[in-house]
Amino acid sequence: MLNTPQNNKKLDDFNSIDDLGDDHSGSSHETPLRPDAFKMDDELKMEMIAKHFKEIMHILGMDLTDDSLKGTPARVAKMYVKEVFSGLNPLNKPTPKLFENKYKYDQMLVEKDITFYSHCEHHFVPIYGKAHVAYFSSGKVIGLSKINRIVQYFSKRPQVQERLTMQIAEEFKRVLDTDSVAVVMDASHMCVSSRGVGDTNSRTGTSYFGGKFNDEATRREFLDYINSPSPR
Ligand SMILES: [Zn+2]
Repeated sequence: MLNTPQNNKKLDDFNSIDDLGDDHSGSSHETPLRPDAFKMDDELKMEMIAKHFKEIMHILGMDLTDDSLKGTPARVAKMYVKEVFSGLNPLNKPTPKLFENKYKYDQMLVEKDITFYSHCEHHFVPIYGKAHVAYFSSGKVIGLSKINRIVQYFSKRPQVQERLTMQIAEEFKRVLDTDSVAVVMDASHMCVSSRGVGDTNSRTGTSYFGGKFNDEATRREFLDYINSPSPR
């Protein structure tokens, strides 16, 4: 490439974008969506994404007439809209059924080792790991599988791990009508392991502790439990 001042300027722009993304700071607890985010229906979104993804592959120099590649744009489009980013659409939000707390169980309930797959919003590559959720019932309890579904819903968005943790915690607080909610997430970021600094072993932890979990002993009980070995 010619080393003109203009080219240097462009390279600097790309480099500073990289620095910002690698810092992994998000701007707010809400996923930044436009008001017209769902004016297009899923079919049109898939059609448009396929078209543009095809263009990206073409620019990269790939031969889209190759049998192995020609279905990729449509496959990626469907995966984005119907699977890995389906949590952007509020219509896909789980509506958890709550039950009376018949047993008057007033202790901590923990659901640990919930596997989640998300995507880093700065690089669009996977973030994956385990989530641990706990709460004290305010009179209602939630079906255990619904805890997983809520975690999955917020994971299926372009995310930063801090925001994902907050969104899950806020949803449980709202649904269960209590502040006493804790969420711990332990994740690997492909943008750290497979590119950039290329650190394959580092993991990132984020946590939220509300209500009774601000009590040192309660928090310890929760953390001890999630760190204990699982029965086999
Ligand atoms: Zn990233």
